[in-house]
Amino acid sequence: MADALIIVDVQYDFCPGGALGVEGGDDIATRIVHHVEAEDYDYVVATQDWHIEPGSHFSDDPDWVHSWPVHCVAGSHGAALHAHLDPLAEVLDGVFRKGEYTAAYSGFEGRLALAEGAQPGSGPDASPTPLLADWLRERHVDEVRVVGIATDYCVRATVLDAVRAGFRTAVVPALTAAVVPDNVPGVLSEWREAGVEIHG
Ligand SMILES: [Zn+2]
Repeated sequence: MADALIIVDVQYDFCPGGALGVEGGDDIATRIVHHVEAEDYDYVVATQDWHIEPGSHFSDDPDWVHSWPVHCVAGSHGAALHAHLDPLAEVLDGVFRKGEYTAAYSGFEGRLALAEGAQPGSGPDASPTPLLADWLRERHVDEVRVVGIATDYCVRATVLDAVRAGFRTAVVPALTAAVVPDNVPGVLSEWREAGVEIHG
Protein backbone atom coordinates (compact mmCIF):
# COMPACT_ATOMS: atom_id res chain seq x y z
CA MET A 1 0.00 0.00 0.00
CA ALA A 2 1.05 3.60 -0.50
CA ASP A 3 0.80 7.01 1.11
CA ALA A 4 0.16 10.47 -0.27
CA LEU A 5 0.53 14.08 0.81
CA ILE A 6 -2.42 16.33 -0.08
CA ILE A 7 -1.48 20.03 -0.30
CA VAL A 8 -4.71 22.01 -0.04
CA ASP A 9 -5.25 25.32 -1.85
CA VAL A 10 -1.82 26.97 -1.53
CA GLN A 11 -2.90 29.62 -4.05
CA TYR A 12 -2.10 33.32 -4.33
CA ASP A 13 -5.61 34.42 -3.35
CA PHE A 14 -5.25 32.56 -0.02
CA CYS A 15 -1.81 34.04 0.69
CA PRO A 16 -1.05 37.53 2.05
CA GLY A 17 -1.93 40.13 -0.60
CA GLY A 18 -4.53 37.84 -2.19
CA ALA A 19 -8.31 38.33 -2.34
CA LEU A 20 -8.76 36.10 0.74
CA GLY A 21 -5.25 36.25 2.12
CA VAL A 22 -4.56 34.10 5.16
CA GLU A 23 -1.76 35.24 7.41
CA GLY A 24 1.29 33.00 7.03
CA GLY A 25 0.02 31.29 3.87
CA ASP A 26 3.18 31.97 1.90
CA ASP A 27 5.39 30.88 4.81
CA ILE A 28 3.66 27.53 5.08
CA ALA A 29 4.21 27.07 1.32
CA THR A 30 7.95 27.17 1.94
CA ARG A 31 7.68 24.88 4.96
CA ILE A 32 5.65 22.38 2.94
CA VAL A 33 8.46 22.24 0.35
CA HIS A 34 10.99 21.45 3.09
CA HIS A 35 8.63 18.84 4.53
CA VAL A 36 8.28 17.07 1.17
CA GLU A 37 12.05 17.11 0.71
CA ALA A 38 12.51 15.54 4.16
CA GLU A 39 9.78 12.89 3.85
CA ASP A 40 9.39 10.05 1.38
CA TYR A 41 5.81 10.18 0.09
CA ASP A 42 4.77 7.78 -2.64
CA TYR A 43 2.54 10.50 -4.10
CA VAL A 44 2.24 14.25 -3.68
CA VAL A 45 -0.88 16.02 -4.95
CA ALA A 46 -2.25 19.56 -4.68
CA THR A 47 -5.76 20.96 -4.79
CA GLN A 48 -6.95 24.28 -6.22
CA ASP A 49 -10.09 26.24 -5.54
CA TRP A 50 -11.13 26.92 -9.16
CA HIS A 51 -14.23 29.05 -9.60
CA ILE A 52 -16.13 29.82 -12.78
CA GLU A 53 -19.64 30.65 -11.53
CA PRO A 54 -19.92 29.41 -7.92
CA GLY A 55 -23.24 31.09 -7.10
CA SER A 56 -23.66 32.38 -3.55
CA HIS A 57 -20.08 31.36 -2.63
CA PHE A 58 -19.17 34.79 -4.04
CA SER A 59 -20.71 37.94 -2.62
CA ASP A 60 -20.23 41.70 -2.82
CA ASP A 61 -21.28 41.71 0.84
CA PRO A 62 -19.70 38.51 2.18
CA ASP A 63 -20.39 37.10 5.64
CA TRP A 64 -16.91 35.46 5.69
CA VAL A 65 -18.47 32.14 6.74
CA HIS A 66 -20.66 31.02 3.83
CA SER A 67 -19.97 33.79 1.32
CA TRP A 68 -16.68 35.33 0.33
CA PRO A 69 -15.19 38.05 -1.84
CA VAL A 70 -14.44 36.94 -5.40
CA HIS A 71 -11.37 34.66 -5.27
CA CYS A 72 -9.58 31.90 -7.20
CA VAL A 73 -11.28 32.65 -10.51
CA ALA A 74 -10.34 29.86 -12.93
CA GLY A 75 -7.23 30.76 -14.89
CA SER A 76 -6.47 33.94 -12.92
CA HIS A 77 -3.21 34.69 -11.14
CA GLY A 78 -5.04 34.44 -7.81
CA ALA A 79 -6.00 30.84 -8.58
CA ALA A 80 -2.43 29.78 -9.43
CA LEU A 81 -0.41 27.71 -6.99
CA HIS A 82 1.97 29.98 -5.07
CA ALA A 83 5.44 30.18 -6.62
CA HIS A 84 6.92 29.06 -3.29
CA LEU A 85 5.68 25.59 -4.29
CA ASP A 86 7.62 25.68 -7.59
CA PRO A 87 10.42 23.44 -6.24
CA LEU A 88 7.76 20.68 -6.06
CA ALA A 89 6.92 20.86 -9.77
CA GLU A 90 8.90 17.69 -10.46
CA VAL A 91 7.36 15.65 -7.65
CA LEU A 92 3.76 16.82 -7.95
CA ASP A 93 1.80 13.85 -9.29
CA GLY A 94 -1.48 15.63 -9.87
CA VAL A 95 -3.47 18.81 -9.28
CA PHE A 96 -7.17 18.49 -8.43
CA ARG A 97 -9.53 21.40 -9.06
CA LYS A 98 -12.83 22.00 -7.28
CA GLY A 99 -15.63 24.52 -7.08
CA GLU A 100 -16.25 25.45 -10.71
CA TYR A 101 -20.00 26.01 -10.23
CA THR A 102 -20.52 25.67 -6.48
CA ALA A 103 -18.73 26.16 -3.19
CA ALA A 104 -16.33 23.26 -2.65
CA TYR A 105 -14.25 23.27 0.51
CA SER A 106 -13.04 19.67 0.37
CA GLY A 107 -10.25 18.66 -1.97
CA PHE A 108 -12.15 15.38 -2.38
CA GLU A 109 -14.66 17.28 -4.52
CA GLY A 110 -11.80 17.98 -6.93
CA ARG A 111 -11.08 16.29 -10.23
CA LEU A 112 -7.70 15.86 -11.84
CA ALA A 113 -6.72 18.91 -13.88
CA LEU A 114 -5.61 18.23 -17.42
CA ALA A 115 -2.05 19.11 -18.34
CA GLU A 116 -1.53 22.64 -19.62
CA GLY A 117 -2.73 22.85 -23.23
CA ALA A 118 -4.55 19.47 -23.21
CA GLN A 119 -8.06 19.60 -24.60
CA PRO A 120 -10.88 18.04 -22.63
CA GLY A 121 -12.71 15.23 -24.39
CA SER A 122 -16.06 16.00 -25.95
CA GLY A 123 -19.06 14.12 -27.24
CA PRO A 124 -21.00 11.25 -25.69
CA ASP A 125 -17.91 9.14 -25.01
CA ALA A 126 -16.08 11.84 -23.08
CA SER A 127 -15.52 10.90 -19.47
CA PRO A 128 -14.58 13.33 -16.73
CA THR A 129 -11.14 13.12 -15.17
CA PRO A 130 -10.98 11.16 -11.90
CA LEU A 131 -12.06 12.44 -8.52
CA LEU A 132 -9.28 12.64 -5.92
CA ALA A 133 -10.42 9.59 -3.92
CA ASP A 134 -10.66 7.40 -7.03
CA TRP A 135 -7.28 8.57 -8.29
CA LEU A 136 -5.69 7.69 -4.91
CA ARG A 137 -7.40 4.28 -4.73
CA GLU A 138 -6.23 3.41 -8.24
CA ARG A 139 -2.71 3.89 -6.91
CA HIS A 140 -3.36 1.76 -3.80
CA VAL A 141 -3.02 4.74 -1.49
CA ASP A 142 -4.50 3.90 1.92
CA GLU A 143 -2.87 6.62 4.00
CA VAL A 144 -2.95 10.39 3.47
CA ARG A 145 -1.47 13.37 5.23
CA VAL A 146 -3.08 16.78 4.72
CA VAL A 147 -1.48 20.25 4.86
CA GLY A 148 -2.32 23.66 3.38
CA ILE A 149 -4.83 26.51 3.57
CA ALA A 150 -7.07 27.12 5.38
CA THR A 151 -7.00 25.01 8.54
CA ASP A 152 -10.55 25.94 9.52
CA TYR A 153 -12.14 25.64 6.04
CA CYS A 154 -10.69 23.66 3.17
CA VAL A 155 -8.12 21.69 5.19
CA ARG A 156 -10.81 20.87 7.77
CA ALA A 157 -13.20 19.61 5.10
CA THR A 158 -10.53 17.70 3.17
CA VAL A 159 -9.37 15.90 6.33
CA LEU A 160 -12.90 14.89 7.33
CA ASP A 161 -13.67 13.68 3.80
CA ALA A 162 -10.44 11.64 3.75
CA VAL A 163 -11.64 9.83 6.87
CA ARG A 164 -15.12 9.30 5.38
CA ALA A 165 -13.52 7.92 2.22
CA GLY A 166 -11.72 5.32 4.33
CA PHE A 167 -8.17 6.63 4.25
CA ARG A 168 -5.98 6.49 7.32
CA THR A 169 -5.65 10.24 7.78
CA ALA A 170 -3.13 12.51 9.45
CA VAL A 171 -2.68 16.27 9.48
CA VAL A 172 0.29 18.50 10.29
CA PRO A 173 -1.19 21.64 11.88
CA ALA A 174 2.15 23.47 11.69
CA LEU A 175 1.91 23.20 7.90
CA THR A 176 -1.53 24.79 7.78
CA ALA A 177 -2.73 28.39 8.15
CA ALA A 178 -6.13 29.42 9.53
CA VAL A 179 -8.57 32.15 8.49
CA VAL A 180 -9.53 32.55 12.17
CA PRO A 181 -6.80 31.20 14.48
CA ASP A 182 -9.33 30.97 17.34
CA ASN A 183 -11.15 28.28 15.31
CA VAL A 184 -8.15 25.94 15.41
CA PRO A 185 -8.67 24.28 18.84
CA GLY A 186 -12.22 23.31 17.89
CA VAL A 187 -11.09 21.96 14.52
CA LEU A 188 -8.35 19.90 16.19
CA SER A 189 -10.93 18.36 18.58
CA GLU A 190 -13.22 17.56 15.68
CA TRP A 191 -10.37 15.85 13.82
CA ARG A 192 -9.31 13.87 16.91
CA GLU A 193 -12.88 12.66 17.44
CA ALA A 194 -12.96 11.55 13.80
CA GLY A 195 -9.84 9.44 14.38
CA VAL A 196 -7.36 11.72 12.62
CA GLU A 197 -3.72 11.58 13.71
CA ILE A 198 -2.39 15.02 14.62
CA HIS A 199 1.34 15.32 13.85
CA GLY A 200 3.65 17.80 15.54
ZN1 LIG B 1 -13.80 29.28 -2.96
